[in-house]
Amino acid sequence: CGIVGYVGFQWAAPILLEGLRTLEYRGYDSAGIATVDAEQGLKIARSTGKLHNLLVKLTADMPTAKLGIGHTRWATHGGVTEENAHPHCDERGRIVVIQNGIVENYLELKEYLLERGIRFRSQTDTEVIAHLLGLYTEELGSFEAAFGQVMGKLRGGNAVVAVDRDSPDRLIAARLGNAGAVVVGEGEGENFVASDLPAIVRHTRKVVFLEDGEMAILTESSVRYQRITGEELRKSSTTVAWDP
Ligand code: GLU
Repeated sequence: CGIVGYVGFQWAAPILLEGLRTLEYRGYDSAGIATVDAEQGLKIARSTGKLHNLLVKLTADMPTAKLGIGHTRWATHGGVTEENAHPHCDERGRIVVIQNGIVENYLELKEYLLERGIRFRSQTDTEVIAHLLGLYTEELGSFEAAFGQVMGKLRGGNAVVAVDRDSPDRLIAARLGNAGAVVVGEGEGENFVASDLPAIVRHTRKVVFLEDGEMAILTESSVRYQRITGEELRKSSTTVAWDP
């Protein structure tokens, strides 16, 4: 339902929590964040109910990583439980993903993964994305190439953001179909992605909206845009006016 991603020079977790707070008006039943860096690896915190519950969990041990993703979930597939809250990761705990929307062919994809011996930990449609990304990243030896290929297999309207623990300097986002927006915020030494402007405009007014079938690769100092099929895109940012 709500998506936020950050990569830059600041601690990601407080920025993600604050970003999710600005998206609360969209409604949600659970929330979670994942942060990644070379020292601490991948850390996931999730909670059902209000964002406050997640905040309480995190304040005892706030991650200091400077890259992360956050999600507020409005359950469509699988009940409101902590296991079903996003982010979801693959079996190895290498790839972590959040999704807005519905993966309409998830049963078919899940069957394929089960045949390959993958064990599922949630009842969501979203978990198939994490496992597919895990398999393809290993197979292709490239998270970026895997991401594009896996996006090409999903049916439905989706906004997806994923991180590979083994390339902890970047996050990748995509928009598929026409359900829900994906906005990239281009900052100075930091970049943002979100499902809506309020999570971005307090940090930067330079924004780029992804269209159907487009993806963005964000590091702290650059954003590249391409089609999920690999073709590079030139997209220029617009400056939004915003009165908070
Ligand atoms: N279909 C996904 C789920 O139930 C995502 C729902 C959402 O957009 O929050 O987990």
